[in-house]
Amino acid sequence: MAHETPLLTADPRALEALTDVRVLYTDLDGTLVAQGGSVLADAAARPSLVVAERIVEISRAGLSVVPVSGRGRLQLRELTQLLGWDGYIAEAGGIIVHGTGLDYEDRVDTGTWPANVPGTGVTPFEAINGVRAAETLFEAFPGRIEHYAPWQLDREVSLLLRGCLDAAAGQAVLDTLPLPLDLIDNGLLRSYGTLTCRDMPPHAYHVVPKGVSKTRAIELDLAWRGLSRGQAAAIGDSATDLEMADAVGVMVLVANAFGSNGVVSGLAENPRDNVWRTERERTEGWAEFADAWLEAGRRSGDDRAGE
Ligand SMILES: [Mg+2]
Repeated sequence: MAHETPLLTADPRALEALTDVRVLYTDLDGTLVAQGGSVLADAAARPSLVVAERIVEISRAGLSVVPVSGRGRLQLRELTQLLGWDGYIAEAGGIIVHGTGLDYEDRVDTGTWPANVPGTGVTPFEAINGVRAAETLFEAFPGRIEHYAPWQLDREVSLLLRGCLDAAAGQAVLDTLPLPLDLIDNGLLRSYGTLTCRDMPPHAYHVVPKGVSKTRAIELDLAWRGLSRGQAAAIGDSATDLEMADAVGVMVLVANAFGSNGVVSGLAENPRDNVWRTERERTEGWAEFADAWLEAGRRSGDDRAGE
């Protein structure tokens, strides 16, 4: 299946589409950062400038990068500021922020919830806890789902869990609760924590207000920025990331995505003509994309100069 997805750098149609792209929405874990969480590392997590050099070049070219992650607001603010970017999407699409200083602007998305939910003085996170969403999953799937400590703290819109669940079965359990919620699979984790399941690798999961997603957050962010879908690209390594394809012109999967649950089946179930893959994994795949994007920009600049 990996090889049915065209290689970004070998497809002139992809390179043409990249000439219009002004903003990249990037997943973090397994995509921008190596195993262990460093941005200063190659695909095997050895010290490397492979990503850092491209981050600097992209900023020099006046292009924007927006991290899109399941992480919370404070974690993403730190990372965004450290890498010299100006906006981020946190909590799997629930929080969209422009600016990292005191004058930041933000939007909290509650998806398809009615305007009066969760109610004054209650965060979406508190509302989700109010219907015992986490506890209900723990009771339905003993040993297979738990809080992803300590990152489940300081949340505003979503629960963060670790587990080995059939996503459809988990969703069916959430559908019994009196608040419309979605279960999002946010890709592979390294550690089982205290889970007892061993029949599949551990994944990160989010419980969000129904409709909240990375895809929807990108659509909201593009509208806020005054950019069109064709002016955006996205890159990631999970089934959830693949869905970002519906909000951008160019969607790229790093090579390791093809080992993540739901990516291959997602490609088969919903064939899209704007999804490409990189040859290399993780940070090196990210750099491969960045080089193609920068080259597309240089070429279109040359074309304009020659007109
Ligand atoms: Mg990821």
